[in-house]
Amino acid sequence: MSWNDRNVLITGVSGFVGSYLAKYLIDQGANVYGLIRRRADGRIPKNLVDRGIYNEVKLIEADLLDLAGLANAIDEAQPDVIFHLAAQSFVPRSFTHPLETFQINTLGTANLLEAVRVKDYDPTIVFAGSSEEYGLVISSEEQYNRVKAKYGHVSPEPERIPEVPINEGNPLRPMSPYAVSKIHGEYIFRNYYYTYGMKTIVSRGFNHEGAGRGIMFVTSVVTNQVMKYKFGETDKILIGNVNAFRDWSHVMDIVRGYCLLAEKGRPGDVYNQGSMRTNSVMSYILLSLEQAGWKIEKIETMKNNKVVENPTEIDDSEMFGVKFEKTKLDRMMLENEIEFTIEDEGVWVHTDKGKIPVVFDPNRFRPSEVPILMADTRKIQKLGFKAEHRLTDIIRDQLNYFLRPENRV
Ligand code: GDP
Repeated sequence: MSWNDRNVLITGVSGFVGSYLAKYLIDQGANVYGLIRRRADGRIPKNLVDRGIYNEVKLIEADLLDLAGLANAIDEAQPDVIFHLAAQSFVPRSFTHPLETFQINTLGTANLLEAVRVKDYDPTIVFAGSSEEYGLVISSEEQYNRVKAKYGHVSPEPERIPEVPINEGNPLRPMSPYAVSKIHGEYIFRNYYYTYGMKTIVSRGFNHEGAGRGIMFVTSVVTNQVMKYKFGETDKILIGNVNAFRDWSHVMDIVRGYCLLAEKGRPGDVYNQGSMRTNSVMSYILLSLEQAGWKIEKIETMKNNKVVENPTEIDDSEMFGVKFEKTKLDRMMLENEIEFTIEDEGVWVHTDKGKIPVVFDPNRFRPSEVPILMADTRKIQKLGFKAEHRLTDIIRDQLNYFLRPENRV
């Protein structure tokens, strides 16, 4: 499908992913309309300015909670394709603001579909679902036993261990109001295909990052602090749970994936989007320091004497039946050889230019946590998807973004 001259409506266009998607589609010749909330402060959305497309996106003011506003937006855009990305997308906020999260993510999603239905348009609509929907993923027998001891049960019980890489048939065990809201949104999407024959397609995106990623997400939390440390603006790196493993993709890989799903995805169906690798938050910190110019010799916990020599050594051995790029430390953590706890207080990173403190901040730990995510992307690969970027490409883009003092927080 050529995007040239096609009408595309993006909800969440001023967000991190929406703005990259809009830029990509504009470059392909599409007429891009973007839904945007009225701003009391009248500020111009930074992401659209940063992408250089502020004057090219046709912005339509409408709130996801206002059905009439949505219907007007659809009249105006006459969309061939809608990408529904608008959401309250930050997991910790969903713990403190669950109702707001449900309103925007579930009711807002239902409103959008209703607006399309009553208007009798027949666009392809792609939903930004999330890997968080999988939630509690079981990666080993040891972890299964630990989880069972902590919660008393695992529900639904895993049909296989490990459940990694995670395919679309995996049970959903949401661990946050955000995850629940996305499951709800996804199911309304799929149901509108079965009930009304609408061309709805669901993407379950694993984490995607890059320059301009919201400052509260861990990849920005890390790269922002590494650059601040580099410029002497801080004397330590503060972080929460470094044991978490995520499948981090470059935002541009996911943007291309969204377009591919609009072109070739099967209505009513669900597709994972990710890189089919998994890396720890700790490795993200170490690789960021390395890219920023430090040579890492070893790490050592502040308490409890846990030491790993050459933690960033590349390891591309097979794990979970997949060969993927990770660090020596990732492999050790995945094999349960080492785990970091709050009681360790933090980690000294020994480098060629001295020791760097990475300090565990109890306030940054979550009430319930998703321990590991790794996408099985074979389904979308069959449509032609390929993740092009390595983890270090993402880190480089983020560090370059934070080179500019005005971007550092
Ligand atoms: P998520 O996967 O959508 O929740 O994406 P985030 O980037 O917010 O978090 C990824 C992982 O990093 C989670 O397991 C967090 O617990 C962990 N993490 C550790 N320290 C931090 C921190 O300071 N901020 C955030 N946002 N996450 C952190």
